Amino acid sequence: MNKLFDEYRVLSDRILKPQDERVPSFLKAMESSLSSQDNWTFYLPYLLSLENCMKCGTCAEVCPVYQEKKEQIYHPVQRADMLRKIYQRYFTFTGRHLPFLVGAEDLTEAKLNELAESFYRCTVCRRCAYVCPVAIDNGLLVREGRKILDAIGIAPDELKEKGTQLQLKMGNATGAATPAFKNMIEFLEEDIEDTRGYELEIPVDKEGSNFLLMHNAGDYMAFSETVMGAAEVFNAAGVDWTLNSPDTGVNDAVNYGLFFSDVEFTEVIKAQIETTKKLGADTLVIGECGHAYEAMKYLVQRLIPKEERPFEVKSILELMDEWIKQGRIKVDPSKNPDPVTYHDACKYGRLSGLYEQPRRILEASCLDFREMYPNREMSYCCGGGSGFAIMEKGDFKKFRMEYYGKVKAAQIKDNGAQVVALACSNCKGQFRDIINHFNLPVRYAGISELVANALVR
Ligand code: SF4
Ligand code: SF4
Repeated sequence: MNKLFDEYRVLSDRILKPQDERVPSFLKAMESSLSSQDNWTFYLPYLLSLENCMKCGTCAEVCPVYQEKKEQIYHPVQRADMLRKIYQRYFTFTGRHLPFLVGAEDLTEAKLNELAESFYRCTVCRRCAYVCPVAIDNGLLVREGRKILDAIGIAPDELKEKGTQLQLKMGNATGAATPAFKNMIEFLEEDIEDTRGYELEIPVDKEGSNFLLMHNAGDYMAFSETVMGAAEVFNAAGVDWTLNSPDTGVNDAVNYGLFFSDVEFTEVIKAQIETTKKLGADTLVIGECGHAYEAMKYLVQRLIPKEERPFEVKSILELMDEWIKQGRIKVDPSKNPDPVTYHDACKYGRLSGLYEQPRRILEASCLDFREMYPNREMSYCCGGGSGFAIMEKGDFKKFRMEYYGKVKAAQIKDNGAQVVALACSNCKGQFRDIINHFNLPVRYAGISELVANALVR
């Protein structure tokens, strides 16, 4: 293994298979990625990003990973060039016949290892794409590179084996079967009764509801306050809604395929669509999970015709914002008196344009809402994106803290808030670690949790 990335490893030797000869299969998979028929998601922007870069370095100035220590191995262009050089060497006329003219060297097994690890050092946050004068998307190149790697069997098991594959087999990436899921729901109902003093029945597997609410399944165990808060808000709104168990298909909004594989991405999204159709819901509501929203609201449009998706898709943030505006739910901000700030998750913000809804919700539900800076489209990724939040192997968590986490911790300290409001499950995982690692005097909370706390009954 190349020593460059030995300090923090994502891909174990079991996955990387450094003993195998993988260069020929990598080149074959890359050839396929360069075909508009085989690459049905981002072919054109991918090709344009491969072919153009002025090497102006503007992207590096905003990349949170590079800016932290300014190490060349984390420079966005150096990373993109790993793929670009292979393209120039093997897939252009000049590169094939006169490689020295494009300065491209042969791909070796050592370089392939380096590329694989490097492509799991970028959270695909796309902050760089916002400032590139010629619209190059380094994050997209990383995603496409991960797809090629997956095609030759290289993908972190947190995303694949324990992610998409477990989700497709069990209905969710936590592996919870229906009896365990229903037990959890009962436990949450009891918890609401204990803390709020009233009984609330959480509907499960109800057919023909107006709203099917699908959470990131990890929230049931790790961030149950978000699940309970959402149940309280839906109950207060008096709408016809339901959660669903694995008995009905997929009961997990996540789609880790988005981070490494169009094939698995499509399989998961199809399973989620089939489940929604089976339950006959009018609207599929995506719980607090940024990438799940981007996937089902926008990227799905590249894959599945509208007539095969006979339901609306909304984020729980959009619904809560509407319900507060309509007076369907009433909130009293004095019930959340502590200063609250909001972290723009990349997938909600830069990737989906959902900036104002969470702010309106928080301004209505909290007494002292204050922005952290920079925010909105220039928000710093917290470091939990593209699956990083669930990657813990070796010293990888240390990498998440020392690079992305440090930037975010400084932002929170400057802001002076006591609560960081988060709308994304992966961000919650990362913030939980950031708060512990940097010993910050703050807590994090889901938006649903804060709204539930402010409800006027
Ligand atoms: S900002 Fe764009 S053109 Fe400039 S170095 Fe970065 S990717 Fe290349
Ligand atoms: S996508 Fe984000 S982490 Fe990756 S190179 Fe761009 S700014 Fe850096």
